[in-house]
Amino acid sequence: MAGEPQADCLFCKIVSGDVPATVVHESDTTYAFRDINPQAPTHVLVVPKAHYPDAASLAAAEPAFAADVLRVAGEIATAEGLDSTGFRIVFNTGAGAGQTVFHAHAHVLGGRGLQWPPG
Ligand code: 5GP
Ligand code: ZN
Repeated sequence: MAGEPQADCLFCKIVSGDVPATVVHESDTTYAFRDINPQAPTHVLVVPKAHYPDAASLAAAEPAFAADVLRVAGEIATAEGLDSTGFRIVFNTGAGAGQTVFHAHAHVLGGRGLQWPPG
């Protein structure tokens, strides 16, 4: 069924606790943890607990969960002190855009100057 945990999904395993992560936030609908390979001094991933392959499909199926992910991303940026210096919320979508884990996730990046456009 849509949104159900997938046995072969890394982020479902992190949400369930089967794979360890450095968790920075949890709510009924979201989970946030530090990226294992950080690309900036702050690099946190925010995921919906429900499994959807990318942000757009999450928003189409469960707009409230998508809003939760976005709100939590902002709260984490504030908690990490990024709101004054600027930060980036990124949803890589599709392999051609660099998506490697097909469970929707927001990257929250900050703590250094961020170039635009990204690569
Ligand atoms: P994507 O490339 O799909 O946009 O982002 C996936 C992210 O997950 C990457 O930034 C990668 O470093 C991170 N990642 C991959 N495996 C793990 C893991 O086992 N634990 C954590 N915390 N992050 C991971
Ligand atoms: Zn999943």
